[in-house]
Amino acid sequence: MRAVVRQATADPAAALASARAHAAAFLFEGDAPLASASLLPKAIELYGPRKSEPVRAFWESDGIIAPTLSDALPAPEAKQRIQVTCAWGGIGSLWALRLARLEEARPVRACASCGRALTGRKKFCDATDDAACCAARRAEDKRRSRTPPTRKPRRG
Ligand SMILES: [Zn+2]
Repeated sequence: MRAVVRQATADPAAALASARAHAAAFLFEGDAPLASASLLPKAIELYGPRKSEPVRAFWESDGIIAPTLSDALPAPEAKQRIQVTCAWGGIGSLWALRLARLEEARPVRACASCGRALTGRKKFCDATDDAACCAARRAEDKRRSRTPPTRKPRRG
């Protein structure tokens, strides 16, 4: 997976093809009820425990007319089965997430030192990503700052 992340910065199309090939063993097409595959994840994403927004009737975009989410979930429309991508285990879930990210063409940032996938706009790992990589890079920065710049011999 690290190789795919590294490749994504240089050649996104090849990284996507490689990720599809790796993920094929872990992913398959299936179906699930709209309520559990779409409505509940959307509700958690929009109105999770740390969010204080008032709940809006987002289920109406799926054709469900109900005053509350509790009323929308048991509706017959919410029991319709929709096509979903299923993943085997944690590795399959990680490949599914990586594929989704590559397909959305979001830039995948990788640490320039170790190749670990990074979040945000960082160029290198920080202490929360990989403490060893972070410490090694800081030591290198410190060593570089102590070494006087080398001068090129003058040609005369
Ligand atoms: Zn790193």
